[in-house]
Amino acid sequence: GLDVDWAVRWLTLSAQAMAEHREELIELDRPIGDSDHGENMDRGFKAVMLKIAETPPETAGAALKLTAMTLMSKVGGAAGPLYGTAFLRAATALGEAADIDAATLASAFQAARDGIVARGKAESGDKTMVDAWTPAVDAAAAAAGDSDVHKVLAAAAEAAEAGAVSTDPMLARKGRASYLGERSIGHRDPGAVSSALILRAAVGAAE
Ligand code: ADP
Ligand code: MG
Ligand code: MG
Repeated sequence: GLDVDWAVRWLTLSAQAMAEHREELIELDRPIGDSDHGENMDRGFKAVMLKIAETPPETAGAALKLTAMTLMSKVGGAAGPLYGTAFLRAATALGEAADIDAATLASAFQAARDGIVARGKAESGDKTMVDAWTPAVDAAAAAAGDSDVHKVLAAAAEAAEAGAVSTDPMLARKGRASYLGERSIGHRDPGAVSSALILRAAVGAAE
């Protein structure tokens, strides 16, 4: 299964991905938002890395909880509270587990998605990060039957990436992009892309 070292590698690779894709996320947020998503996510995950260095977590759940608290306080706008809720719910789903199996991992992803939906009230097809998370959660649940955490992680990342691409033709119904109505069509949702990057980082952390 997966342990605290995996969780810390996941967050470290996520922070690297947010730094590497900072400009791309800013550019995606330009036509349908306020051009700050890359900056928000990079700032938030840099703060997470500092917190982890200050107070090394002893369990994966503790690592995700610390991430939730940091993202809530350091990332402004819509994404901070949404990702904060996602990581907090995932942390609760993991509890004190020292060894995370495939079923627990899939249920933690589901808890994260449910948290995003509870907080932001977006449905599938509204052109938000939910359109990356929902297919990821479904793919993770389907893959969990094989009891292989690597398969769960890979299935989730692949589905999230396809989910992010699927937002291109959608009309935004939540968040800033919804102010544009029809003009939001033809652009990829930045939060769906950052979600896919974070789920891809989870795969790399387990290799
Ligand atoms: P802001 O829009 O406040 O500037 P960000 O640019 O950091 O915040 O994040 C924007 C992203 O947040 C969007 O691309 C979308 O994925 C996500 N988002 C916004 N509102 C919602 C919502 N109600 N439910 C789910 N996701 C949302
Ligand atoms: Mg923005
Ligand atoms: Mg903003």
